[in-house]
Amino acid sequence: QGTTERPTEKHRVTSKGTDIPESLESFEAIHEEYRLPTHIYQNLSKSGYHYPTSIQSHAIPILLKSRDLAAISPTGTGKTLSYLLPVMSALQAPISSMKDASELGVRALVIAPTRELAHQIHNECLKLAQGRKWRTVLFSKATASTLADKNVRNKIDIIISTPLRLVASLQSGTLDLKNVRHLILDEADRLLDAEFSAQIEEIVTACSHPNIQKAVFSATLPAGAEKTAIEMLRNPIRIVVGLKDT
Ligand code: ADP
Ligand code: MG
Repeated sequence: QGTTERPTEKHRVTSKGTDIPESLESFEAIHEEYRLPTHIYQNLSKSGYHYPTSIQSHAIPILLKSRDLAAISPTGTGKTLSYLLPVMSALQAPISSMKDASELGVRALVIAPTRELAHQIHNECLKLAQGRKWRTVLFSKATASTLADKNVRNKIDIIISTPLRLVASLQSGTLDLKNVRHLILDEADRLLDAEFSAQIEEIVTACSHPNIQKAVFSATLPAGAEKTAIEMLRNPIRIVVGLKDT
């Protein structure tokens, strides 16, 4: 981590789908091509991220093109930044800093199977958020109870949550997800398994915005889970990153 040297290519990547955007091998190229918000771009190097990993090179352009994505890449290959960077770039700026925020309510939602994982994702989110007043909420019983206040609810940019916690707030009517434009399922193999399927269905249904972008990320995706994922997505691109010589 934090090396300025270009990492040697370690992965073989296969992509499937229509009109797949070109992968980009540097954050600078991504910044030029897609005009990332400057503070987010600068926060990459501040966080010690100098070159994108394989999954980042491929997934970031796809998500910045507003496409749906199923991404499979081994543990430790940087999947978190692969979705946080494009999602935060698409949001552009914290809603609290917008003069006439006509779009109220949470605009991005990341679901993870465990609280610990949600916590790690939130930490990555805070790195990209440095220097701006992003409201990135690690959803818990305590944060859920603050949602009764409309002023709190309407100023949230991104929620990161486990399924159960979120569904409890949906059912009590203190949270609506109608304005969510980006829905990410991380460790999707677990989220699309029987244990969580009813909750995930409820969350996906609650995210009713017609232009929502959805993506699933996982280290592995068994056939059954992949089928569920593909049915959930609209004209998705599928990327598989494999370790070479495996
Ligand atoms: P995954 O979700 O694929 O298991 P993570 O997103 O948790 O991987 O990232 C693994 C580690 O790699 C984290 O410590 C993260 O900060 C680091 N990392 C991610 N992207 C980069 C990058 N482009 N350059 C250097 N380190 C990175
Ligand atoms: Mg991960």
